[in-house]
Amino acid sequence: MPEIMEIEEKEAISINNLNSLHISSIEDDDDDEEEAVEIDEDGEEEEDDEEPVILGFVKKPKYPNSLLRHLFPSKAGGVPAWLDPIDLPSGKSRLCGFCEEPLQFLLQAYAPLSNKESTFHRTLFVFMCSSMACLLRDQHEQWKRHPAKQSRSVKVFRCQLRRSNLFYSSDPPKCDDTDKPLCAGAALCHWCGTWKGDKICSSCKSARYCSAKHQVMDWRSGHKLDCQRMSISLQTSESMHSNGGITLEEITKVGSTALWPEFEIESDNECEIEAEASEHKDSSSLVSKDEMDGINSVMKTFEGDDDKKSWASFQERIARDPEQVLRYSSNVKAKPLWPMSSGRPSNADIPKCNYCDGPRCYEFQILPQLLYYFGVKNDVDSLDWATIVVYTCANSCEANISYKEEFAWVQIPSSA
Ligand SMILES: [Zn+2]
Ligand SMILES: [Zn+2]
Ligand SMILES: [Zn+2]
Ligand SMILES: [Zn+2]
Repeated sequence: MPEIMEIEEKEAISINNLNSLHISSIEDDDDDEEEAVEIDEDGEEEEDDEEPVILGFVKKPKYPNSLLRHLFPSKAGGVPAWLDPIDLPSGKSRLCGFCEEPLQFLLQAYAPLSNKESTFHRTLFVFMCSSMACLLRDQHEQWKRHPAKQSRSVKVFRCQLRRSNLFYSSDPPKCDDTDKPLCAGAALCHWCGTWKGDKICSSCKSARYCSAKHQVMDWRSGHKLDCQRMSISLQTSESMHSNGGITLEEITKVGSTALWPEFEIESDNECEIEAEASEHKDSSSLVSKDEMDGINSVMKTFEGDDDKKSWASFQERIARDPEQVLRYSSNVKAKPLWPMSSGRPSNADIPKCNYCDGPRCYEFQILPQLLYYFGVKNDVDSLDWATIVVYTCANSCEANISYKEEFAWVQIPSSA
């Protein structure tokens, strides 16, 4: 077994982790921004009836273990911090509907709802296949109005817990090294660290995998050698397993090098003011030149005037905070910001909740800037999207399953 590390913490982890996407708007007033407000004649119409959008920005994690599940993080890349650590999505739900590879973790947003006991903790998890070929097929599939039969390469899961639950203390984390989950999670795949390791290497009886594919990957990348060593050490390390009943499998090393780099997602309200004209033109200074080139090349693929207009207003809005990777709104009437006017779903294209048959509402959208932070190249067949829009059950219903599948709508930049 990989070693279990105890990481020393010298300072308390910021409590902001807990509230990173808390939507009951405890957010501070934007004092500094308000000082800077000059009345902007062009920007009036939109502002009055709009609630501020909560934006997500990626940051390198402050502490090595600041993104563990008992701190209720919002995070992108790396492995998921499963909220319910036991009853993970299983079977086909964790596979790409096209190539059937296990899906890769994209991000999770901690978004508790204070109006119900059952949503005291609530996290939304987004996974996708890293193959652009699959995403192109997904584009066609999302228009089919039979969710039961839909194959998708982008999947969203909603998990929620009451304040009093089996996994975490009902007190908020103290954010010192005494924080611990109440119980260990399910053993995870040795390769991807993402999905339940419900298959075990028959030789060392120690390495666990989510799929035969990941076992093969791990074997080739070195488990062949480790396996022998592990079988030997297995006999001597049995005492490790009786260590008070709590082991943090989450900390074990992950074999795969294909995971996206890990970031914490921090949130802030969107700037209330339009970027000034001069500032707007300069926005490329905040975003790297490569990224802007990528975004501008997207522009060239548009043919219709409507798409051009839509793209221009999308860009104008994003330019207020060009580094945003996520836009979140707690208001059920909120609408996503569409990069293109074509390829938008109508209400009828958003399937009803699989569990309660109630309506789904827009909750957040993911921007292509995330791909830049993930270091995804800008090649012809590289993964790319204009936006991924996540719709969730308006009632955040309960069901007999911990991870309830929700719905994502993907707009990709070129016509496919
Ligand atoms: Zn795939
Ligand atoms: Zn795996
Ligand atoms: Zn083995
Ligand atoms: Zn529902």
